[in-house]
Amino acid sequence: MSNNIIWHSHPVDQQTRASQKSQKPLVIWFTGLSASGKSTIAGALEQILSHQGYHTYLLDGDNVRHGLCSDLGFSDQDRKENIRRVSEVAKLAADAGLITLTAFISPFRADRRIAREILPEGQFVEVFVDAPLDVCKQRDPKGFYARAERGEIKQFTGIDSPYEKPESPEVRIDANRLSVTEAVNQLLAYLDQSGVLKAGYQPLAVSA
Ligand code: ADP
Repeated sequence: MSNNIIWHSHPVDQQTRASQKSQKPLVIWFTGLSASGKSTIAGALEQILSHQGYHTYLLDGDNVRHGLCSDLGFSDQDRKENIRRVSEVAKLAADAGLITLTAFISPFRADRRIAREILPEGQFVEVFVDAPLDVCKQRDPKGFYARAERGEIKQFTGIDSPYEKPESPEVRIDANRLSVTEAVNQLLAYLDQSGVLKAGYQPLAVSA
């Protein structure tokens, strides 16, 4: 970075923007294997929060690769750059006062640590969507595992590219045992304990 670039502080800051929205901004960072359920659970949580009047934004791994990160592939270097860009965008969204959700495999611990460290203290919630590789392969909603196993997709996480599990995530979702609704309830309970939900929460009804 050039020495001539100096940070300009503006009078309207994160606190101003968040208090206009009467909410506590944060980044809820979902990580896990492909097909573990990150997008599904993040989308369901966002829907509930949005219905309850919170201002949210969901950054989804597949979607950003259509634009912001369309020039990137899946080498270790490109994955790192993908997560670096997304971390910065998540930070901007939280700075705008939004409850920001991100759904990226984000396989490397070091990259997730950077995403945490660039945010103000306490504004990063790491959610490990933990589903065994076998289960993810069976779900395979986009047919990616089948293609990776045939060698048609290279550097696919869990097949020929590593996934580094979080060591101490704020929330671990057992995505093999829990339904999507149960996973959302677990997250709502966490957000409630963390003082993010203004009026507490009613657990969603879980069908038998
Ligand atoms: P990811 O974003 O991690 O790649 P997706 O959410 O796109 O995963 O896909 C997960 C798939 O698994 C979806 O088709 C979803 O309906 C299905 N699924 C089945 N059970 C669950 C569960 N308990 N939690 C999340 N997804 C589940």
